[in-house]
Amino acid sequence: MQQLTLEWAAADQHLSQTVSLQQSTKNPGTIRVGRDATMCDVVIKHPDPTIEKTVSGLHIEIFFNPEHHQFYLRNLTRDRQPPKRPNPVVVDGQKVVMEEVPLHVGSQIRLGRMALQVKSIDTQPVPVEPPAVPIYQRVCGNPRTPHYHPLTYDKLNCDICGYVMQGATLVYPVAEV
Ligand SMILES: [Zn+2]
Repeated sequence: MQQLTLEWAAADQHLSQTVSLQQSTKNPGTIRVGRDATMCDVVIKHPDPTIEKTVSGLHIEIFFNPEHHQFYLRNLTRDRQPPKRPNPVVVDGQKVVMEEVPLHVGSQIRLGRMALQVKSIDTQPVPVEPPAVPIYQRVCGNPRTPHYHPLTYDKLNCDICGYVMQGATLVYPVAEV
């Protein structure tokens, strides 16, 4: 699961949110953070509007860089046209406007007057089941629930149901429980 947990405080409220790239986000493949709930997956609110206003409606985007196997952050206000100016983001003390910076567990992200922290990061890819390889097995003639036996099974009748054993057939093995 490629997911990330952000933690922040709004006045006396401690908030945290975990967003996974495997779930559908506003912009698939990225996690968007800002003040506007229609555009963001993590919505930053504050009871004091003068503080809340320092966060842009759509402020940052967090994405996974498969080459570096790390989450990165980019400032989405960097492309704003004048007279609007980019709203800086500070990550671990570094001002971020045009560049893309990696995030680590414990990274501090400052959006306006709001401070967020990366609480945890999971970069494990979703496990993919290996494709099943068909193998030859012998099957009994039971019309309801045929039973499969190894090719070396040399009985004439199925020892589970008693039906006569048929020849070898190509089957996809079922995972043994
Ligand atoms: Zn059988």
